[in-house]
Amino acid sequence: MKAFDEYVELAAQAHGHICAGQILGLRLAIHGCELLGLEDPAGAQRKRLVTFVEIDRCATDAIMVVTGCRMGKRALKFRDFGKMAATFCDLETGRAVRVSALESSKQKAKVMFPEIADRNRQQMQAYREMAAADLFEHQWVRVTVEPHDLPGFKGPRIVCAQCGEGINFRKEVAQADGSVLCRACAGERYYEPA
Ligand SMILES: [Zn+2]
Ligand SMILES: [Zn+2]
Repeated sequence: MKAFDEYVELAAQAHGHICAGQILGLRLAIHGCELLGLEDPAGAQRKRLVTFVEIDRCATDAIMVVTGCRMGKRALKFRDFGKMAATFCDLETGRAVRVSALESSKQKAKVMFPEIADRNRQQMQAYREMAAADLFEHQWVRVTVEPHDLPGFKGPRIVCAQCGEGINFRKEVAQADGSVLCRACAGERYYEPA
């Protein structure tokens, strides 16, 4: 792993500012990688890791910095649970660990640095110094990453019978009549024609 301050600098660049969420995200990802025994997840070991993040906030960018996992590489998976947690999956060993932030960490930050009035600064300082056990809990888990969801998957592109758009990575939905639709046409559309 890199020195913590090096990660802080990289996270500030990636995210546009440094904040308590970034520090927490860095610590969370470092903790996850350490539990898996990965020393250079974003470098020499960059093809080993797939990370599931459960929140799209400041911490997410920090998790990307530490793990090297990105959506564009299909190594970062987003599950919108609104929780400060992530699961780190080592593709080589098949081991996976889910790390989540403890609710008590904010209160602990207050107790540690009552003299810092600014909440963000108070938490930044505390999240740097707190023991991992005071910040997180973790659980070893099993995650099935389907072959078509792995980085580097190559497969046929299917055309939606309704909208005609191409569908990659086996995301098509088979219909009872044998036709194949994209998820939008199959009813999961998140937009309406204006
Ligand atoms: Zn931020
Ligand atoms: Zn369609």
